[in-house]
Order: sequence, then C-alpha cells, then structure tokens
Amino acid sequence: MSSPIQSLPPSLQTLLQHHPDFTINAKEGLYFGQTSLKAIAQEYGSPTWVMNADILKSRYQKLDQAFKAEQLDVSIHYAMKANGHLAILDLLAREGAGADIVSGGELKRALKAGIHPSKICFSGVGKTEDELRLAIETQIAQINVESREELHLLSKIAQSMGKNAAICLRINPDVDAKTHHKITTGLAENKFGIAYKQAIEVYKEAYELPNITPLGFDVHIGSQISSTDPYRQAFVKMVDLINEARNQGLEVSTLDCGGGFGISYHDEQEASPSAIAALMKEVLAPLDLKLGIEPGRWLVGPSGVLIGKVVMHKSNGSDVAPFIIIDAAMNDLVRPAMYDAWHGILPINPEIYRRPYQSLNIDGPVCESSDIFARDRLLPNLQPGDFVAILDAGAYGSVMSSTYNARPMAAQIMTSGNQSAIIQPRQTIEDLWKDEIIPSWYPKNS
Ligand SMILES: *Cc1c(COP(=O)(O)O)cnc(C)c1O
Repeated sequence: MSSPIQSLPPSLQTLLQHHPDFTINAKEGLYFGQTSLKAIAQEYGSPTWVMNADILKSRYQKLDQAFKAEQLDVSIHYAMKANGHLAILDLLAREGAGADIVSGGELKRALKAGIHPSKICFSGVGKTEDELRLAIETQIAQINVESREELHLLSKIAQSMGKNAAICLRINPDVDAKTHHKITTGLAENKFGIAYKQAIEVYKEAYELPNITPLGFDVHIGSQISSTDPYRQAFVKMVDLINEARNQGLEVSTLDCGGGFGISYHDEQEASPSAIAALMKEVLAPLDLKLGIEPGRWLVGPSGVLIGKVVMHKSNGSDVAPFIIIDAAMNDLVRPAMYDAWHGILPINPEIYRRPYQSLNIDGPVCESSDIFARDRLLPNLQPGDFVAILDAGAYGSVMSSTYNARPMAAQIMTSGNQSAIIQPRQTIEDLWKDEIIPSWYPKNS
C-alpha cells in the first residue's frame, strides 16, 4: 500500500523530516512511534495527552549513551517541572535518572516516585525556609543556592538542625542563550543566580559559614537552546571561575551544567547529545569534576502529543483563513498563548489526508484571543469530528494546565508498543467545584 506521505505538501514533509517518530499510514492514519493515534482517540476521546514510554526511554538512553561514548561520567538530573507525572518519573528513575527540583512539592513528588535523595538537586530563586529545611532533612545531593541571602539563611537553618547542607552556587554567567526572552535565564538582567563577578567572594563565604558544604557551581542559561555556542561560552567562563577558586585554595568538586537542550518544534535543529557531550569533554574534562546536567524539555517534549477534535469549521469571510475550533485549548496547552510557541499539527484520521489542502487557523474554544494553536497553516480541509495531534506537547504541557473556562483537566494516556493505559483519568465536571466552599456567614437574602 502506498503511503499518502508522497503527496504531502513540502511544509508537512519538512515537519515529518524533523519528527521521525511520526508516520502516516494510508489505512490507519497517524502513528506516534508504534502507537496508532486513531485507536487512542477512538478509545479515550479528547482532549487527551499521549505520552509514548518507548520514545521517552529511547531519548533518555540516547542522552546517557552520548556521555558514555565520551567516557564522561555525567549525572542526569531530570528537570521534573517539564512533566512531573509519577509514571514519567518512575520510568526515568528506572533508567537511572535523578531529579532537578524547584519546590518542596517537587521534592516530595520525586521521593514518592522512588528517586533517591542522593540523586536530587534543588534549584530556584525563592526557596522558603520550610523547603530548605525539608531538603536538609532529606539529605538531598545538592542545593543550588541562587543568592548570598539564601546562603546565609540556609546556614542558619542547617545550624539549627545540627546538619550540613551540600551546596552549589548557581552562577549567572551573563551569556545570551539566543532563545525566547521568556525562557532566557543566564543574562545579568534575569533574576536567576549569583552575578559572575561576585561568585568567588560568595563561594569563599560559603566556606566560612557554619554547616555548609560547598561542592562547586551550577549554571543554567535558559531553555530551548539548539546550538552549542551559548553552552561553550558559559562553560569557558565557568572553567575560568573554577581555576580562580582553586588558585585561591578553595575546593571545587562539582559542576552542574544545567539543562535547556532544544528540540525541533518546527524545522529547527534539535540539540545534539553527542555535540554537547563532546563539548563537555573538550572544555570540562581536564578539570576533573563531577559533572551533572538538568534536561527537561529534550527528554519529554517530543515524547508526548495532545489530541484534539474539531468542533467547528468557522468562516469569517473570504480574506481570512477559516477558523478550525478544536476541543483542546490554552487551558490544556498554554505554550502558544504564553510564549508564542509554534507546535506542529497533524491530522490523525487517514481519510483527511486525501482532502484538498488549504490555509487554516487552528484555535481553541476559550474566550481569549490568545487561545490560538496555529495561524495560516497549510492542512487538509478539517471538518467537525476530525482528530488532530498537536506535536511536542510532552514538556511544559499537562503540568501547566488549568481549568480556566470550567474546562476539566484532559485525560492522560501512556503507551508502549501497542499497549495503552490511563495514567490520569479525565477530570469530571463535578471535580471542578468539589473543594469550593461557600462561607456560612455569606449574606443571604431573607
Ligand atoms: C527549567 C529548568 C531546567 C530545564 O530546562 P529545559 O529547557 O526543560 O531543559 C533545568 N534547570 C533549571 C534550574 C531550570 O529551571
């Protein structure tokens, strides 16, 4: 049987070239790895998140093996804010991953998933006293301290508990990650980390403060970075810093290299694990450090999709492309509304691919102009009842969902081979208000 892919317009061919996990079968429609999305849509309805465990596992292994190929011992701490579902943490933990956390809630979630405290790093600019206490109590591997103020607070808390806190200083290297301004973190103007110029001074203080064990430094410059250049700039600055610290007699054993590895949403180049590993080998290996990374998006982003169903084909006059309203919305996947993010969209049912193509707007039903998934996208003419997949929705997707417009949280499915399982049932409408309380003193009409 010939695949309809031959007749796809160049834009969809490019999208598929950058998304090798997707195939279009003439009879069964869109496949995500070995998962028939048509079968999933029919069985579970929409909107529905689909996380492909096989793809996730193979991405983790690809990353892990890139470092092994360079004989580099690098600890992978999954930045679980990208998608903290227990099923995902469980899978990654089994592969050997640790966790990079940004809150006490994420700490408890990581522990719940069976990730050992010795594999947990804690980042974040506003850790509370309770969160720091929990981290010390649990004896996690390392707290990435983001300010002098936090360092002093941590020392005080650790002292009062009679325990030590192992720390890295998160340094802001003032390097432009050349990514979206809302996901850049390593410029001096960003709130993250300790200024590069103050790094040695604060590291010395860490040495002098009671109950603090300084391990070294941490640097995370942003997200969705596809070239190795910003990493090279940041690492080179860190090498200078570490040499300077060591020259001053300060021990540095650890460098946490951060995350931010980019993926191909559209036609961008995906960050290459082997290029990153080679760079780390070249620039960092001579320093004999314990190295770590904190990838989030790269692992889970391409491992998930969001399925939506067309509810309306709406024409607003001849000079504007038709509005295709689907039942997934910005409350499910907020990235387009929040970051102007571009996501690939592919029809799921095979027969759709045989229709004429036209320029379409794909929108959610929420009452906000920013509830847009695509503008002027060349797709086959979509009709009510058609299913579509929004690609690369595994990172910063379900975790950012809300119930805005009284829209229940979408179902979440995990697949492997031809198996599928619900990992989070679709929320019911009644769930939306089950914890809401009307005060008894509320003035009532008499
Ligand atoms: C968000 C975050 C990450 C992960 O970023 P990705 O772009 O998802 O890889 C890593 N480290 C820290 C400190 C973060 O805040």
